[in-house]
Amino acid sequence: MIKILMYNIMDDEKIVVTEWLKHRPDVHIDWNDVTLNPDTVDLAKGYDGISTEQDNLIDDPIVYEKLHEFGIKQITLRITGYDIIDFDLANKNDLKVTNVPAYSPRSVSEMVLTQAMWLLRHLNTAQQRNQAHDFTWEGLQAREIHDLTVGIIGAGKIGSEVARIFKALGATVIAADPIHRPELNSVLTYVDHETVFKTADIITTHTPLLDSTYHLFDESVFKQMKPSAIFINASRGGVVDTPALITALENHTITAAGLDTIEGEADIFSNDFSDSDFDNDYLKTILAMPNAIITPHIGFYTDNAIRNMVEISMHDMLTIIAGQTSEHELN
Ligand code: NAD
Repeated sequence: MIKILMYNIMDDEKIVVTEWLKHRPDVHIDWNDVTLNPDTVDLAKGYDGISTEQDNLIDDPIVYEKLHEFGIKQITLRITGYDIIDFDLANKNDLKVTNVPAYSPRSVSEMVLTQAMWLLRHLNTAQQRNQAHDFTWEGLQAREIHDLTVGIIGAGKIGSEVARIFKALGATVIAADPIHRPELNSVLTYVDHETVFKTADIITTHTPLLDSTYHLFDESVFKQMKPSAIFINASRGGVVDTPALITALENHTITAAGLDTIEGEADIFSNDFSDSDFDNDYLKTILAMPNAIITPHIGFYTDNAIRNMVEISMHDMLTIIAGQTSEHELN
């Protein structure tokens, strides 16, 4: 029997794991609700493999040393980001680290579609009027998506899916990305960044957060956009200079914004503040804006993504335990 310990499991993962285990009677899985750290590493003793899903850094040498001492060969991350790992320590202790590079690019792209259509059809206003039993039509006349140009900054895994969805709806799709993917030639036209900013009706960003993309969307970029432009960010909060976005929305430099992420969201999104205050003035301002919508980083959060997160990580872990090489090894 292969014994696995899953750190910091979410309730939705438990359902998938329970189902997965029905097909793997040779595997025993225990789980807990704590992150992997110096205080919890001893829980891994006696297991053949571990996985975790957490934000907190695993930076204490004792964690790596103890896992090695327990005979564990890997740290399997059930997430994409791997900046929580100290790879020098992992290498020194013969621990292979894997991540799940993509749970479901489609999940995020469907959120982009949802936010774009919501804003395009003025549903913030319609909803607010509904609450007041005001069913008038003024200001609710909308544009149709097949008449519009959707501009994508960063057409990688997620941006490509966004392109395919909007193309299927009849929109013209343009994209700026240093990498040109021939498989997208029938879906979009590659242009430079400026052309996206100046000509697209809906601009959606899907770059990673890098030094080169930090505050890529600043005051000068919003000023290049059409006053009718809708801006969507389901990538990372830091890609956008949030005060510049707020000013652009307040001054109607652009018409609306849909966000699934915002600077300073850590420790806020996925937590309940209905009875307490949270510390993020940007978020408070955006929440109060009639021409913005924000969701709490749930773009990825679909049935497929959770299943992939569990199944891909489990496959990686069992591959390494069996002495083979996983395609998702990071070191
Ligand atoms: P990816 O690596 O597959 O694609 C990123 C693309 O951006 C690449 O093609 C790259 O060439 C391009 N790029 C890099 N710098 C650029 C620049 N300055 N201008 C234009 N293009 C640039 O990444 P992905 O998996 O598609 O993820 C995209 C983003 O979505 C990331 O920021 C990721 O963290 C985020 N994400 C969000 C959610 C969510 O739930 N909202 C879920 C998963 C990923």
